[in-house]
Amino acid sequence: MPNASIVAVGTELLFGQTVNTNAAYVSEQLQLLGVSVLYHFTVGDNPARMKRTLALAFAESDIVVTTGGLGPTQDDITKEMIAEHMGAPLVYDEEAKARLDAIMRDIGRANYTENNMKQAWLPEGCTVFYNNAGTAPGFALERGGKTAIALPGPPREMKKMMRESVIPYLSQKSDSVIYSKMLRFYGIGESALETALLPIIDGQTDPTVAPYAKEGECAVRVTSMRRTEAEARAAVEATVARARELAGAYLYSEDDEEYHEVVVRLLAEKGLRLAAAESCTGGLFAGAITAVAGSSAVFDRGFVTYSNASKTALLGVPADVIERYGAVSEPCCRAMALGALARSDADIAVAVTGIAGPGGSDCGKPVGTGFYGIARRGARGDGDGEGASDARAEVHEKYFRDRGRRVNRQAAVLELCDMVRKAIEGGGR
Ligand code: AMP
Ligand code: MG
Repeated sequence: MPNASIVAVGTELLFGQTVNTNAAYVSEQLQLLGVSVLYHFTVGDNPARMKRTLALAFAESDIVVTTGGLGPTQDDITKEMIAEHMGAPLVYDEEAKARLDAIMRDIGRANYTENNMKQAWLPEGCTVFYNNAGTAPGFALERGGKTAIALPGPPREMKKMMRESVIPYLSQKSDSVIYSKMLRFYGIGESALETALLPIIDGQTDPTVAPYAKEGECAVRVTSMRRTEAEARAAVEATVARARELAGAYLYSEDDEEYHEVVVRLLAEKGLRLAAAESCTGGLFAGAITAVAGSSAVFDRGFVTYSNASKTALLGVPADVIERYGAVSEPCCRAMALGALARSDADIAVAVTGIAGPGGSDCGKPVGTGFYGIARRGARGDGDGEGASDARAEVHEKYFRDRGRRVNRQAAVLELCDMVRKAIEGGGR
């Protein structure tokens, strides 16, 4: 298995003006190809220091990926430094020049400045990665068992080149194929999940099972590297099936979907429509749902009822319920869910009322407390809903450790998604 290091080039990175997102992206992509990343280097636009950094990176790794410093200006020296390090002279590339001419003509700068010509010179014998999002070409250069891969700095150009050129280039050099799946879990902590999955984590070689911590949820990547894609896929699927047996109750996506994406997909599959009554999340749930393409088929409406008065006016929550039990209470949440169902065309309505913090815990309930309700039309039950006599609501209280207002609100959105998924899949509560 080859290894790699990444050299991010640019003085702005050292100044902290630009965050080195390129290194993270390249690392992730390499890892998916089965290339392990050993080091991240960051160096300014300085010839002597870049030379030393390249020497160090090449001494430590089979592949060195650079980003930045390929442009037309004086401080763009990455290509020259790589060519020098690997002993390859720069040669004039006709196609690079023709492409440069075409781009400049398109943007109305046919008489471009001489320094742009620099971008038409490339190391002799390299594989050129023509830039489909900008002017500076990238390249791969192999010498003495080492490979240099030079990519432009602007993330949009770099990512496009990575996807369109670098990944095919590296996969074609490799005699094995990687297949991987990202599983997403909710409602179980990282350590509990690891314990549950121990039979497939312990002593793993292939597929590998790697847990990732995420905000309010857990993810696990299952990866296999085999001679053919079919073999790798079969190995991954077998491990995923085991994960389903071991922790299936918490597994909400086998395809790296966000929870709100799963909710939209499930609603669409069942032909169900959703409404939401939100207090502490202030529309965050509706925002997440409607961010998903195709949500118009499944989302009817959202009620942002932040004040007590609005809960009464928009959802018909009786004022005396709020007076007697408080807005953050089981009866209020139940009335919100039933009210949202009665006042919408939805089949399912969810409601949340809670304390996002940092203030507001003076009513005797700690920050992070929330009540979550779900009401469904047509289910025969207690029939306690205003104007929806055949509707039934279920409410549960959930306490999340206070992790700050933003995360508390995100956690509430995930809990709402969880409630909808379980209701649809018939798990109930
Ligand atoms: P360059 O190719 O060095 O001229 O870089 C062009 C622009 O790309 C810089 O001004 C940054 O805004 C951006 N950039 C360069 N390197 C990185 C990096 N490692 N991560 C994110 N953005 C970068
Ligand atoms: Mg630069």
